Amino acid sequence: MGQFRNFPMVPRVVYGPGCIDQLDSILMPKRRNTEAPFIYLVDAVFEDKPLLGKLPLRFEDRLIFIDTTEEPKTEQVDRLVALLQDNFEEIPSGIIGLGGGSILDLAKAVALLMTNPGSAADYQGWDLVKRPGLYHVGIPTISGTGAEVSRTAVLMGPEKKLGLNSDHTPFDQVVLDPELTEGVPNHQWFYTGMDCYIHCVESLNGTYLNAFSQSYGEKAMELCKEVFLNGERDLASREKLMMASWHGGMSIAYSQVGVAHALSYGLSFLLGVRHGIGNCLVFRHLSDFYPEGVALFHEMCEKHKIVLPKDICSQVDDAGMQTMVKVALSLEPLWENALGADWKKQVSPELIEGLYRKI
Ligand code: NAD
Ligand code: ZN
Repeated sequence: MGQFRNFPMVPRVVYGPGCIDQLDSILMPKRRNTEAPFIYLVDAVFEDKPLLGKLPLRFEDRLIFIDTTEEPKTEQVDRLVALLQDNFEEIPSGIIGLGGGSILDLAKAVALLMTNPGSAADYQGWDLVKRPGLYHVGIPTISGTGAEVSRTAVLMGPEKKLGLNSDHTPFDQVVLDPELTEGVPNHQWFYTGMDCYIHCVESLNGTYLNAFSQSYGEKAMELCKEVFLNGERDLASREKLMMASWHGGMSIAYSQVGVAHALSYGLSFLLGVRHGIGNCLVFRHLSDFYPEGVALFHEMCEKHKIVLPKDICSQVDDAGMQTMVKVALSLEPLWENALGADWKKQVSPELIEGLYRKI
């Protein structure tokens, strides 16, 4: 490998309000034969919703509804792969994820595990996936995570929460239709949107920053400000947030996230706190690291009347606390990005515990 990382990108993307209507013509050339179905992994929130009528089901195509109360797990991926292998004569023509970051990551992981042997847990890490997955398509229905552009599929495993980071992970096709994000509940719209905002703050204030990341990060930041400080929740703002998510994801591709994500991973690992809200719970206490970003975050919360829960860690015992601190500290690249090569001199387990106690 050379000094500079050579990243894959999503090779095809269709954008525009209503563009999901083109899905049939997009998939048609990718269908191997009538026995090789497209498998749709769909967030269960869309069961019985008119959106399903827009999915061009043909022949053996199948919808599988996925409950996203909990974030995706390696064993859930393994179960889905076994189900597809047992129930269809032919290998599917493709896997399509319709939903938020949870579903997008699940779809990427299932596509990869259909062609790579073993359990999804074997591939949590960097560049462990050796073979291309099945053709996979991402259709986001909520904006913010950047999972639609990223080269990772984040999964909770038996030992860790870690992504399948590989050149085969990015989607082959993404469908960006801002009409699909219309029905997102207000608090969830805010939490997932803040994931994007926090990606921008962490990327733009990181030591890994470079012109590539900065160009995407600045655009994403500008769009986030328009959406969360000046905008209404109309089509124009849905379009902006969808593109902010894309740019935010591109920005961290060539840099890293930072302190909020490190601590949020600990919360998620021990308490199952979900990514968007977890980042918000942590970020509001990070004014020592990101003073301007945190001040603006409080303004955004106020404008949208978001009251974050408190005392999340009050029941955590000592052993639990040690686990969270360990998970947070293990994410070395995030700390190095946030604080520089000598980060170990600046953060101690006590400092991290102090932050968790505030949450
Ligand atoms: P999510 O996918 O977990 O969904 C959050 C909630 O929003 C769910 O209850 C879902 O049912 C609901 N929802 C989604 N679309 C809706 C719609 N149009 N109408 C009504 N409700 C809707 O949320 P998320 O914040 O997008 O994703 C979080 C996940 O993404 C985490 O698992 C996290 O680890 C992962 N993530 C991945 C990456 C990556 O690069 N792969 C980056 C950041 C986060
Ligand atoms: Zn994030």
